[in-house]
Amino acid sequence: MAVSSNTRSVTALEGARERMVRTQLLDRGVNDPRVIDAMRKVPRHLFVEPALVNRAYDDDPLPIGAKQTISQPYIVGYMLQALALKGTERVLEIGTGSAYQTALLAELCANVFSVEKLRNLAVQGRAVLDELRYYNVAIHVGDGTLGWSEHAPYDAIVVAAGAPRVPEPLAQQLAFGGRLIIPIGDRTSQVLKLASRTPNGLEERSLGECRFVKLLGKYGWPG
Ligand code: SAH
Repeated sequence: MAVSSNTRSVTALEGARERMVRTQLLDRGVNDPRVIDAMRKVPRHLFVEPALVNRAYDDDPLPIGAKQTISQPYIVGYMLQALALKGTERVLEIGTGSAYQTALLAELCANVFSVEKLRNLAVQGRAVLDELRYYNVAIHVGDGTLGWSEHAPYDAIVVAAGAPRVPEPLAQQLAFGGRLIIPIGDRTSQVLKLASRTPNGLEERSLGECRFVKLLGKYGWPG
């Protein structure tokens, strides 16, 4: 019967999500309780193509069309943990993509402002966020290397694509004391940088190697 097989598959996906949380996050040091609660709650399988639903909780990035990927769960959890959000922040996200990380941010802060270059992905992401009733998210289609000045300053900025350097507008739109996380490097491998804005400029530290798709745009790679 359709109903019971649907129920079974939902239970299987929930089981896979719980295993993801334990083996890919907690066992590897992503243990901020707010991040863990959010990753236990947000149904990642709704953010991947129907054909890939059974791989939604695998330890991998997955294609989302237009040569883009939904990031591996671990790196998403790791970046969110590094932002140390308390729940009151206004956060700018560059590279909405599937909007999976956007949904997690919606759980973890007060307001999310997300910029995506590709209209199709933004529209698709918005639909899933609406279905899940994340109404504290605004999405803008455009070049995220310019930030989103109307809503600045932001308490945190998270960039989900690799850039040659920190785009200057993002540094300017970060609040004093705010945190910015961004992969910086060449086209094939990057170092994840965590920066905080001080009166003397950005103070940066490196968190480790990572690999993201390219951040295109005026202050990113030429498209
Ligand atoms: N967090 C997303 C990651 C998507 S991949 C997820 O897990 O689904 C990175 C995304 O950045 C892609 O959707 C790509 O289209 C987008 N992107 C690349 N350059 C951009 C730019 N300058 N402004 C906004 N989005 C950009």
